[in-house]
Amino acid sequence: MSRVVVVGAGVGGLAVAARLARSGHRVTVLERAGTVGGKLAAYERHTEVGTFRFDTGPSLLTLPHVFEELFATCGADLRDRVDLVPLDPVVRHRFADGTWLDSTSDHEAFVARIGDAFGGTAADDWRRLWRRAERVWRASWRDVLTRDLDRPFAAARLAWRLRDLAAIAPGSTLRSAGRTLRDPRLRVLLDRYATYAGADPRRAPAALLAIPYAELAHGGWYVRGGLARIATALADLCAETGAVVRTHQGVDRIRVAGDRVTGVDLDGGGFLPADVVVANADAAEVYGRLLPGPAAPAERSLGGFVLLLGVRGVGGMAHHTVTFPAGYDAEFDAVFGGRLAADPAVFVTVADDPAVRPAGHEAWFVLVNAASHGVNWRSPGLAEGYADRILDVLAGRGIDVRDRLVFREFRTPADLCDATGAPGGAIYGTPAHRLRRPGNRGTARGLFLVGGSVHPGGGLPMVALGARIVASIIGPVR
Ligand SMILES: Cc1cc2nc3c(=O)[nH]c(=O)nc-3n(C[C@H](O)[C@H](O)[C@H](O)COP(=O)(O)OP(=O)(O)OC[C@H]3O[C@@H](n4cnc5c(N)ncnc54)[C@H](O)[C@@H]3O)c2cc1C
Repeated sequence: MSRVVVVGAGVGGLAVAARLARSGHRVTVLERAGTVGGKLAAYERHTEVGTFRFDTGPSLLTLPHVFEELFATCGADLRDRVDLVPLDPVVRHRFADGTWLDSTSDHEAFVARIGDAFGGTAADDWRRLWRRAERVWRASWRDVLTRDLDRPFAAARLAWRLRDLAAIAPGSTLRSAGRTLRDPRLRVLLDRYATYAGADPRRAPAALLAIPYAELAHGGWYVRGGLARIATALADLCAETGAVVRTHQGVDRIRVAGDRVTGVDLDGGGFLPADVVVANADAAEVYGRLLPGPAAPAERSLGGFVLLLGVRGVGGMAHHTVTFPAGYDAEFDAVFGGRLAADPAVFVTVADDPAVRPAGHEAWFVLVNAASHGVNWRSPGLAEGYADRILDVLAGRGIDVRDRLVFREFRTPADLCDATGAPGGAIYGTPAHRLRRPGNRGTARGLFLVGGSVHPGGGLPMVALGARIVASIIGPVR
């Protein structure tokens, strides 16, 4: 039996802990915060009209079968633990010219909706792109997303699949993949998927075509009561498999002797010996602070500016709505240039779920992309002013909620940094501007990394896949 220490109880940390405990290891998860889940977090606000509940992180679950497999491997049934609700529309889009388009996981219905909304060649163009996206998805799933890319000869294996490489087109960008879409609104729709990986579509690889495919072929899901219930379910899974989770216990250093990890120094003093350390902290934290030695500076992914709104009245909003600006590129210029975007795309989530709002009210989660460097989110009045600006932008796009507010709160990238240790509040570590992300195998023997900043990337299912990869490298107790 190996002694395994997992640093951080985000989704990746909890998922790998449950798998390793299930396969016989003695696992301890150390989490600095008082709660588990990391970015998959919830917030409750009690008011005179009742309690509002918010997911402050993820609001859309994709590829739930990844979590089903995790739970099944650990002897449980995900569907007994969380109530998954399929969404249609997955996302309602409003374009700058006032056109609306509802996405759906029914491909033929979506193509028909595209034709109705945009006319011309739009439906055929989407169909053609979809065939390419499907090829990219299948190749990515088989050869990248489910694989340990640090193992010897992994790159050679990738190179054998030449037909898939034509679709993935290494070196080309998501933006260039969208050039076959003649309607500019479809190109905007495609560009947005780069942000799921914290990236700029002008620099993100065309391989990110896999993201819309994953979302729209497999569907988008809500979890009744809020997505953060997945974190609770994962913590329960850890308890059932025998992994011990200690909150309020940060790790100060990962100790290495020679080329092997030996354990971790605890915040507040003390040393916990380990044969294996799995770091669920951001890779920049691991290499920049937790391990000795200098860190290589790396670009940071997008952050998010979040509004949590208690709203009077119900109805009129889809579960997810995104409204686009006239100039989407200006937003990417701003957030990757370290500035506030004056006229950003605004994403709104309103769950039609009595568990998250008082009767006659709604809990709105509003998200815009935000810089994870260059903006001093703590400068007095800046975040308040930006929150007002976002509400004005929404109103200008026909969604005016300003006179229905019971309250308005916000969370900045600086808040996310404080809460989860994500440097700069970058949601996905480094942006997916390259095909390869930092690896799951660390620089010392016995050290592994899991989570949104490392292979295969961010987002709930990717992080859970990363946990599967790491658990399979470590293997069962021999
Ligand atoms: C606003 C927002 C919206 C999002 N929307 C979606 C969405 O709709 N769909 C989706 O799939 N994904 C979404 N994501 C991304 C998703 O939340 C993340 O990719 C995923 O939750 C990251 O999991 P992780 O395993 O990397 O752990 P993290 O969530 O990064 O957690 C890491 C944990 O490690 C702990 N830690 C760090 N350092 C230490 C230390 N030294 N000692 C002890 N503990 C430490 C932290 O406290 C934290 O709890 C969103 C994220 C945000 C912030």
